[in-house]
Parts: sequence; structure tokens; C-alpha cells
Amino acid sequence: MIGAKVDLAGCTVLLAAAPGSATRAARYLQAQCVDTLLQASTPLGALALLGQSDVLALCTGQSLKFSALRRQALAQGTPVIELDPGTAEGRITLVGGGPGALELLTLRAAAVLASADVVFCDRLGPGEFLDQLAPQARIIDVGKQPGHHKVTQERIEELMLREASRGNHVVRLKGGDPYVFGRGFEEVESATAAGIPVSVVPGLSSCITVPAAAGIPVTARGVTRAFTVISGHDPLEEQQLAQLAVLGGTIVVLMGMGTLEHTAAGLRRRGLPADTPCAVVESGTTGTQRTTHATLSTLAAAARAAGCANPAVIVIGQVAALPLGLDAAQQMSLEATA
Ligand code: SAH
Repeated sequence: MIGAKVDLAGCTVLLAAAPGSATRAARYLQAQCVDTLLQASTPLGALALLGQSDVLALCTGQSLKFSALRRQALAQGTPVIELDPGTAEGRITLVGGGPGALELLTLRAAAVLASADVVFCDRLGPGEFLDQLAPQARIIDVGKQPGHHKVTQERIEELMLREASRGNHVVRLKGGDPYVFGRGFEEVESATAAGIPVSVVPGLSSCITVPAAAGIPVTARGVTRAFTVISGHDPLEEQQLAQLAVLGGTIVVLMGMGTLEHTAAGLRRRGLPADTPCAVVESGTTGTQRTTHATLSTLAAAARAAGCANPAVIVIGQVAALPLGLDAAQQMSLEATA
């Protein structure tokens, strides 16, 4: 959106525009904090409202249709601005940034970041590389520490919509994949409801990549042929614990550090063997990656003793012990590639 060199905050603005371009132009003007927005789609209708307006806004390409109105406005000293709703339409792209390592960002994600005007990031994913990936963009950190929400989800959506309404390409960079416990769909819904074009770039989710970085395959032929990914943000319910305990396969818990004791004790109570191998993988794929191995009965105590902290992926199942069976040389090369 170009042409609005006048500070429109607090003004009464008359938008004279054909219906096709009026919606986007109006959204832009509202984002400029105008006090009152008057709208007319015909020259006659607009003329009737001109006397009440501080500024007249016209759209590029419609100057002929509204030429008499423009002349009248200038004659009475009302500034005229021209908007180009077609050239820089705001949009939102949700980008899955992968687990944290720069190389695990997709090519599409990198291209989108390179074209961003504004990036909303948080503490997960490759946020620390943004000065490389999006040097031209304004970075807004809306990171949340568990339990200490810096910016509410509602506020994040509000800010994203506001930036996009100003004609910006807004990128919401998320750890892993936007649709895996990432509130991605809520953000798609709010953009759609506001009439703002939105798209999603998938990312490598930590539920697979973080165990893999520690040498743990979430499935392995002959060992397990299923894996369940579950959020441990809230304590698992009895029924979920019972179902998980009998389902077989690998259990991968995200956001599970705060409820680890409850989860481990519940799964044991519901019949999962005490010697089931487990692993906690912290800060996977980053320079501070660390793995703590245990069994179901020792998991909570082992994590406590090691001082395990978020972000961490908890793996419960036979696959968690597989890297321990590799010889030392193989283990070292795994670590080197993590
Ligand atoms: N959308 C993300 C998950 C968001 S929920 C994804 O697809 O990966 C946040 C949780 O993801 C964290 O609490 C942690 O369990 C996990 N997580 C994300 N990145 C991680 C990393 N690099 N290392 C360990 N856990 C990670």
C-alpha cells in the first residue's frame, strides 16, 4: 500500500473507491488508526461526505472516475492521498522452523523468511538465526516461557493482523511444525476471518527430529510399528494413561517436563512395565543437546537428578534403548551429526 504520506491517526478519512478495491483499502486505513472512516463508491455519494472529512483517500487507477471530487477536495484544502491496494497486499505466512538447527529449516521456509517485512518468533526453532535469515525484517519476539506467557495468543493474533493490514508480509516463525501443538490452525482461522491471505509452510517436527538427533528412531522394524505423540502440557487423564499403556509402540511426549512424574507413575500404574526404556532429549539439534536415559520406574528421579528442563522431548518405549546398543564409534558419529 503506497501513497499514504500523511499521518492519518485520529483523522476522519473519506475513502472513495469502487467496491472491488474498497475492502483492502479500508482495512489499510483502519490499521492506520483513523478516527472515523467514511466510505462511498460513487462520486456523488463521496461529494456529499467531503465536507465532514479531514482527508480524502482515492485508489490508484480510479482517478478519472473521481477527478471532480479530487478537484473539489483540493479547492477546499482537504489533503488527498492515493492508495494502491493492489501492489502490496498484506499477508501472513506461518512457517515451521524445525527443531532449532539452521540446516533443518526447509528451503521454502528460508525463502519466505527472506521476503518477510515482520517476523513474529518465540523461543523454539531457529529464532537465533533471524539476522541471517531475515535481515530486512522487523523482529517481534513473542516468546513464551512455560507458565510465564509473555504475550497472550489473542494478542499475538491481533498484532499479526494489524501488521498484515498495513500491507506487510507477516511471518509467524514457529518451532517444529505449525500444526503440531503450535496453535497454527487458530492463527489460520483468525487471518481468514479478517480476510487476510494466509499460507502455511510445514516444518520438521521435534516429535521425530529430536529423538532422531539422539539416535532414537520413533519406529524400528521388529521393535515397534507405531508411535503416539501426545502433549504433556496438562496432566494426562486416567483414560489416556490406560489407553497409552496398552497401545504398544513408542510414546513421545512434548511439553511434558512439568507433568513427568504424573505421566511415568500413571503409565506404570496402568500396566506399562517398569523396565520400559525411556529417554529425555533436551534442546535437540542445538549446541546444548543432551540425552538422559532411564527406565519407566527411574525416569522421574533421573530427570530430576540431571536437572532436565524444557524444551525436551520424552521418549517412552523400546526404541529409547536402541542407541545404547550401538558401539562407541557409531555413537560418536551420531552426536557429531546432531
Ligand atoms: N510445533 C512444535 C511443538 C510445539 S510444543 C513441533 O512440531 O516441534 C513445544 C514442545 O516441543 C516443547 O515443550 C518440547 O517438548 C518440544 N520441542 C520443540 N523443539 C525442541 C527441541 N529443539 N528440543 C527438545 N524439545 C523440543
